[in-house]
Amino acid sequence: MKRKRDNSDDDRGDDGPRCYFCGSAGEWTTYSIWAGFCVSSKRTSDWWSGKTRVEALYRDLKQIGIHACDACVQGWWTRRYLIGTIGWGVPTFLILIGAAIVPFLGLSPSNMWGILITLSLFGVLIGLLWVLEVWELVLPSYQTATVEYMVLDRVQADFEKEGDSVFTDSEYRCMFLHESPDDE
Ligand SMILES: [Zn+2]
Repeated sequence: MKRKRDNSDDDRGDDGPRCYFCGSAGEWTTYSIWAGFCVSSKRTSDWWSGKTRVEALYRDLKQIGIHACDACVQGWWTRRYLIGTIGWGVPTFLILIGAAIVPFLGLSPSNMWGILITLSLFGVLIGLLWVLEVWELVLPSYQTATVEYMVLDRVQADFEKEGDSVFTDSEYRCMFLHESPDDE
């Protein structure tokens, strides 16, 4: 990810590339998407190993560079993780309230502990997911593979003519170049 530069005066010319989404000449990063047509695909499952092998043939696979400015990416990121924070925060909160009410319901101790243990198991699981969402909202990592999906989601419809299959750059490198997803 490029560092943001202060260019509030915006003294750059109009000839430079601009953000694909908002047209701003601010600091941008190029994200690659790949589009092509699937000619054939074959799926074989091996139930012994539980592995599925997919072989597919594509034609006219081409790389399309999309400029996205930092402001657009930050906006998508905030919206995405704000929704996640609320989405996982509400059930976490309800479970906490439930756990606080259970001791006052006059249940037998075994029933009460049974419910409390069940609630805490769910609470820990859902609470962890909530913490991950909050973490990305407060300390955004702008992880490339995730941002690529955000870009792809927004441009997919614009490149329908380029192919019936689209991939992010990370997917492309993983599927066609057999690089591990963590290579940067
Ligand atoms: Zn933008």
